[in-house]
Amino acid sequence: MKHSHSLAVMEEEMQAKTKRPYLSIVIPLYNEEENIETLQKKLDESLGRIGSGYEIIYVDDGSKDRSFIILSRIAKEDKRVKVIKFRKNYGQTAAMSAGFDAAQGDVIIPLDADLQNDPADIPKLLEKIDEGYDVVSGWRKNRQDKFWSRQLPSVMANRLISSITGVRLHDYGCSLKAYRAEIIKNVKLYGEMHRFIPAFSALEGGLVTEIAVNHHPRLAGKSKYGLSRTFKVFLDLIVVKFFTDYAKKPIHLFGSLGLLTFFFGFLSAAIAVHQKIFNNESFTSSSFLVLAVVFSLFALQSVLLGLLGEVAIRTHHESQGKKIYTVAKTVNIEVLSQDKEY
Ligand code: UDP
Ligand code: MG
Repeated sequence: MKHSHSLAVMEEEMQAKTKRPYLSIVIPLYNEEENIETLQKKLDESLGRIGSGYEIIYVDDGSKDRSFIILSRIAKEDKRVKVIKFRKNYGQTAAMSAGFDAAQGDVIIPLDADLQNDPADIPKLLEKIDEGYDVVSGWRKNRQDKFWSRQLPSVMANRLISSITGVRLHDYGCSLKAYRAEIIKNVKLYGEMHRFIPAFSALEGGLVTEIAVNHHPRLAGKSKYGLSRTFKVFLDLIVVKFFTDYAKKPIHLFGSLGLLTFFFGFLSAAIAVHQKIFNNESFTSSSFLVLAVVFSLFALQSVLLGLLGEVAIRTHHESQGKKIYTVAKTVNIEVLSQDKEY
């Protein structure tokens, strides 16, 4: 009797271990002790209705308040709740990234811990995923933040990001989005990059859409950001543009720049020679000779920088065993183990 009982328990434990949830909620948080319990309650309500298995991964980004104690208590009562604690504060992107790495679900939905995002929107996002989209971006249509320091910079940033990446979304900055796991696991996140995931996904061939989601004012705790984030986002955008267009071929960017300046250098030299022969101006008094030298040096530098970039990008790909392509599906072909391990 005792024997069969323990077997059953073991079986149950095994199942809990091997059965992957359909949905992974990822919540980065930093000093949100006042918000966690209400958030968990709202998540329970919303997720109770979706009818498939889920896990909630809280990533405590080095909080200095009681956040981790509260989270540990919740996780003790509910095994679907998982907690990752960082040793120190690494930032929202790093926290989100850790959550993505740990997530086991087919669909991953990140959201903020401060109750500004509404867990009641989760079923709506899932519906869109079911329609076949790879990324469903939340759009805080009625955003409840300060106008001058948050909303206005955000509108401008979204326009800029949309036009530079070619992926038109109203609200890159909204954390609440749904991703198909296979798409997101290929994306490496740095800096403030989590907001660019939809753009990266679209460029990888993913289908992206957006829906309006609720947004509430922050009632407890403090916002961790100010205006300075806008500048960081702008700098990240330059990196994103480089990586999406030229990362695989840096020589195309730097080489083109080099060839163009080499042409200007050649032109300047020709003018200097022309002035010497026809106007009898001495080389030393001609500013075109100086220009020719400057342009030629810059041209040479650019091409060499491009070659250096090529070396770096090859190291980047090969050291991580990364392919220059990603396979979505195969028929009657075993995918190489490298591809499977996303
Ligand atoms: N956050 C984090 N690490 C940080 C800063 C923020 O994990 O270094 C979390 C924060 O606790 C919240 C989310 O990221 O859950 C969004 O932060 P916040 O609400 O301050 O940003 P805002 O809504 O003001 O843009
Ligand atoms: Mg917030």
